[in-house]
Amino acid sequence: MGVCFSAQGQFQFSQSQNSQKKTLGKNSAVYQMNTDCKESSAVGGKPSPSGLPLPPKNIKDLQSNPGYENVDIFTYEEMKLATKQFRPDYILGEGGFGVVYKGVVDENVRAGYKSTKVAIKELNPEGFQGDREWLAEVNYLGQLSHPNLVKLIGYCCEDDHRLLVYEYMSLGSLEKHLFRRVGCTLTWSKRVKIALHAAKGLAFLHGAERSVIYRDLKTANILLDECYNAKLADFGLAKDGPSGDQTHVSTRVMGTYGYAAPEYVMTGHLTSRSDVYGFGVLLLEMLLGKRAMDKSRPCREHNLVEWARPLLNHNKKLPRIIDPRMDGQYTTKALMKVADLAYQCLSQNPKGRPLMSHVVEVLETLKEDGNAQEEVMANLHSRGKSVTLYEAAPSDSQGTRNVDGQRRRRPESGRSKSEASIDTDQYVSALVSDSDPESTKI
Ligand code: AMP
Repeated sequence: MGVCFSAQGQFQFSQSQNSQKKTLGKNSAVYQMNTDCKESSAVGGKPSPSGLPLPPKNIKDLQSNPGYENVDIFTYEEMKLATKQFRPDYILGEGGFGVVYKGVVDENVRAGYKSTKVAIKELNPEGFQGDREWLAEVNYLGQLSHPNLVKLIGYCCEDDHRLLVYEYMSLGSLEKHLFRRVGCTLTWSKRVKIALHAAKGLAFLHGAERSVIYRDLKTANILLDECYNAKLADFGLAKDGPSGDQTHVSTRVMGTYGYAAPEYVMTGHLTSRSDVYGFGVLLLEMLLGKRAMDKSRPCREHNLVEWARPLLNHNKKLPRIIDPRMDGQYTTKALMKVADLAYQCLSQNPKGRPLMSHVVEVLETLKEDGNAQEEVMANLHSRGKSVTLYEAAPSDSQGTRNVDGQRRRRPESGRSKSEASIDTDQYVSALVSDSDPESTKI
């Protein structure tokens, strides 16, 4: 789950939920769920702007309308069986939402169930805003289905227990691989593949009948399967895009430091172009092998975008900042293409950023180039020759890569994975200019 920019985050979230209630009316809808989200409708209520049924407002609402097709409802007892009583050695990781366990749902858990490896996330009962994010996750992932979105298999909502059951992504998060100190196996072509998959996931969300804005793109929210196929996870901050003649959605500023688009931080105006900016940050991190924010780097390099964006279209300087672990794996042409793409995505002007559908097209061409290139290399190797396609400069003399591997937890909000890039004053002024009708209540 993502992190809001301040300790006021919990409040901000509940405020935006309230305003949504206000705008959409008090429909206690009976949902007719489906997975392609085109014909989703809310019986007894209007569909939400995304074309999806109105999200359940609270757990009671969800329980009385539990019918997400393709999403199973599990009992807590079944969750215990699937995780062998939440065995500590089954823990896969811990995010702001709570602990994630691996597990298997099979015949022993539920009669007739086809054995399925799963990841089970249990909401930390102390999490203040967990329910809302939990509901957002169930609402979006329960209805949207795409190869580049992690699949929600089911959920459990019993007494005080809130759990989510996902398809198991055996290689874990991109963050874990990209910022590993030793033994990073993310080659250039794997990174291009991951970027393409993330772009496809976002393009799907933006291209839905009414767009969905993901709002929390970052390496920690991209999960990888055993073949390095990438899927977007964590829809706790996702939001319906603008509808009708709206140009943007006004909302509280939430997301992760270092990834949020500047205009969103300053105005609270959210558009799909905010996600494109986040994608630019992700591309930059993958190109350089460095975190978006890292206070242990020299001062002028704290913020990766500020420091590196101007170098992206600098033919001579660019090769010197590229992750040296990819030496010899890419052509100059391919590098320039990706660097140019990142440069455009990171434009200060939202309209200067490409659409995600265009990003997908560009990355697709690279994948094709990459395949051809790998074939050439394989041929050369099979003839006993080696080749260096590109000579990148030696490792960053500052030795600043891959630091800050620790997750920061924010107990007060129950969230984590925050990287502070925006100073508080700037953030506060952004809040003041927030045009959310409910914002004056702060
Ligand atoms: P999160 O709370 O989503 O940040 O997840 C915390 C950690 O749990 C991630 O960094 C992953 O290592 C792991 N994890 C989360 N979801 C899955 C999944 N579906 N499959 C495998 N590992 C996962």
